[in-house]
Amino acid sequence: MTRAEMLAFEPKPDEYVALARAVDESASDALLDERERALRDQIREVVAAELVPRAAETDRTHSFAIEGFTALAERGLVGLIFPKRWGGTEDSNVAYAAAVEEITAGCPATSLIYVTQMHAGYPIWRAASETVATRYLPGIIDGSIFGSLGITEPDAGSDAASLRTRATATDDGGRQSYVLSGSKTFITTGDRADAIVCFATVDPALGRRGITAFLVDGTAEGLTRGRPFDKMGMHGSSTAELFLSGVEVPAENRLGDEGDGWSLLMTSVIKSRISAAAQGVGIARAAYQMALHALRAIHGSKLPDEVTFALAEMRGEILRGRLLLFAVAREVDRSASPSAGEIAMMKQSCTDLGWRVSVEAARILGPFGDVAGLGVERCIRDSKVTQIYDGTNEVQRLLIGRDTTRGLEGVL
Ligand SMILES: Cc1cc2nc3c(=O)[nH]c(=O)nc-3n(C[C@H](O)[C@H](O)[C@H](O)COP(=O)(O)OP(=O)(O)OC[C@H]3O[C@@H](n4cnc5c(N)ncnc54)[C@H](O)[C@@H]3O)c2cc1C
Repeated sequence: MTRAEMLAFEPKPDEYVALARAVDESASDALLDERERALRDQIREVVAAELVPRAAETDRTHSFAIEGFTALAERGLVGLIFPKRWGGTEDSNVAYAAAVEEITAGCPATSLIYVTQMHAGYPIWRAASETVATRYLPGIIDGSIFGSLGITEPDAGSDAASLRTRATATDDGGRQSYVLSGSKTFITTGDRADAIVCFATVDPALGRRGITAFLVDGTAEGLTRGRPFDKMGMHGSSTAELFLSGVEVPAENRLGDEGDGWSLLMTSVIKSRISAAAQGVGIARAAYQMALHALRAIHGSKLPDEVTFALAEMRGEILRGRLLLFAVAREVDRSASPSAGEIAMMKQSCTDLGWRVSVEAARILGPFGDVAGLGVERCIRDSKVTQIYDGTNEVQRLLIGRDTTRGLEGVL
């Protein structure tokens, strides 16, 4: 057996749980109530048994991480923030953030499938008619169908207000519907989604006021899908293009009224930015745990000082990131309109954290940081996209800047 093989990160479930417990922090645990901590611990057990053993193989083979996701769904853990009447558990956004951190620490790609179900389900819950919600929401929450959130287009992502997918109202002898034409790109789970929340415009001249969301059924005529992209990381989650060519959508599939799409999108990205931030903290923790595991095997219990200093720095950064994540998620629980700047700071700093800690973990492992079996190089690859999606971190800095100067109006 080579040294690299001996250092491979292949913990048994009980070893993984013990390692995760060893890096828990009482300061962040104190921000969780009893139910939130119990849920986090329950998810950790599932992650240890079902996700961790598959994570490296899923990455290597680029296979959709269905087993881990199904294990979470079968235990009723997918609809955390949703009402019980739709199959959810009515948990807090903080519980959701802690859950996503936990799932991501075990397998980031599974977490991307997991959060995407929430991202698709949330606008349906908030804005769909009873009939449409009844048709799709329970399946998204119990994992029997897949959802996607379709915002990004080839020429509109950061500038979502300029999206061009067109929705034209039609009336065929009293049967009202919309015809959708355009394309979406970089859509998570887009290759297989049964329910696609698709943002379109009823009139490009109206700008944001024309943006309207629709539920497009995955079997709709005129909907085609591209082959999933070959990506740097998150190999167990698929990302694809969607082409809508005269797709007829019944008027009842409109989410809210015409022109309600922009505010729906703005409330939806609050949720998806909690997801991305929690993934950032989860990846940072994964890299830290993996590095600790390997360093103990290399050096024994007495780690060199320079390694201890680096670990101390990483541990502090992870704790600060998690405290920010929980604090902002708690504020979202309390308030319908948290500060855009705080949401952006959470997303930007927690996802930058994931990248920075992963790179640092690889550095202190020397050549072993480059070896796939230890898991740290996967953390680097998986973390990159969290800085890009849900609004790039440059765009988050812009939002923070805008919020900052707005706060100064009338002061200077
Ligand atoms: C793996 C993956 C999964 C994704 N999943 C989904 C999904 O499920 N649904 C969905 O709708 N989208 C999804 N996306 C798309 C993603 O959200 C967008 O790609 C992202 O928000 C960036 O938008 P864009 O593509 O328009 O990039 P661009 O805006 O073209 O960005 C290019 C560069 O320009 C910078 N930039 C842009 N505007 C400004 C500005 N005003 N000031 C300074 N810099 C700026 C960006 O920061 C970036 O560095 C996914 C993307 C990836 C890679």
